[in-house]
Amino acid sequence: MIPGPIEFEPAVLQALGAPTVSHTAPGFIDLFGNCLRMMKKVWECPDGQAFIMAGSGTLAMDMAGANLIEPGDKALVISTGYFGERFAELLKRYGAQVKILRAEAGKTVPESEIEDALRDEKFKLMTFTHVDTSTAVRVDPRLIGALGKKYDVLTVLDGVCSVGGEEMRQSGWDIDVALTASQKAIGVPPGLALLVASQRAMDAWKSRKVPVSNYYCDWSNWLPIMRAYEQGRPSYFGTPAVNLIAALEVSLRLILEEGMENRITRHKELASEFRYAMADLGLRMLPGRESDAANTLSAIYFPKGVAGSDFLTSMAKSDVIVAPGLLPSLKTEYFRVGHMGAVNRSDIVSTVAAVEKALEQLKK
Ligand code: PMP
Repeated sequence: MIPGPIEFEPAVLQALGAPTVSHTAPGFIDLFGNCLRMMKKVWECPDGQAFIMAGSGTLAMDMAGANLIEPGDKALVISTGYFGERFAELLKRYGAQVKILRAEAGKTVPESEIEDALRDEKFKLMTFTHVDTSTAVRVDPRLIGALGKKYDVLTVLDGVCSVGGEEMRQSGWDIDVALTASQKAIGVPPGLALLVASQRAMDAWKSRKVPVSNYYCDWSNWLPIMRAYEQGRPSYFGTPAVNLIAALEVSLRLILEEGMENRITRHKELASEFRYAMADLGLRMLPGRESDAANTLSAIYFPKGVAGSDFLTSMAKSDVIVAPGLLPSLKTEYFRVGHMGAVNRSDIVSTVAAVEKALEQLKK
């Protein structure tokens, strides 16, 4: 029950274990093209450009930074935890002048603060973490997208802990780049960096004055490849992760078969049932307001007088593995439970039972 890598559907694992084919085999070309088309459906960005790369979510962040930032560009980072800080560091490597707006732990940055920053200074790009996995705080992409449009700033959504488990309408909400990794709500073992860019983002990249300084991430290298596979032709820049892409095709198909509305509702219901049970046990959540709490994971404070390490050991004895805290300032005070992807009601019930048992044992 950690927030990634999650548990995967058997059909996905089966596809992963199938014999590896050539990246130019006709069957694989179809698979790759299907993945790119299905991503645009899941992301709700029909006219976007999808990219699939071998790598983790941080590579998708790198791809956004490398292609959209030129030395001296101003970037605004809206940080709700650990992964906002990562984005700020990454953008600086590409020469961005970064301003960070930091939320208090468990809260979001007030809209007025973001708008003040945008009014005061002209930024090229702003990033935000849809769900920060360190705090379980969810930011409303609608607000950021609308501000990006109003102030003509590109918007980049880090959706590593959200895409496939939270409502996200990339085109409708004016998000220019939405990126994720395979191992969370997309439901595929770790190893794929996934990104969809709007036409506005692609135009910003095309009008760069300075070449992209990261060779592997450069869209000049990857755009012809993605276009070729979408058009049913093989092409080569770097060998694609053939088996992972075969597994991605199965998972995206399952996601679309379930239907995005149904999938989001399932995540929402399981998250609120889990948190209801935690509240019933007297436990407090890190997100201060339920409306800011994610569907994909929960961050729960350890009860007073209970040592976190003892609690996690006790949970593991019930065969339920949860994650420790991640936010440096509060790390030892809370734990995290992922509830995304193939998660079902019995997983939630088993987790609640393990928490209850751990509390009983440790309070003795
Ligand atoms: N952003 C968020 C919100 C994440 O949760 C993670 C991973 N936990 C990352 C970025 C980085 O992804 P990866 O570990 O796949 O590089």
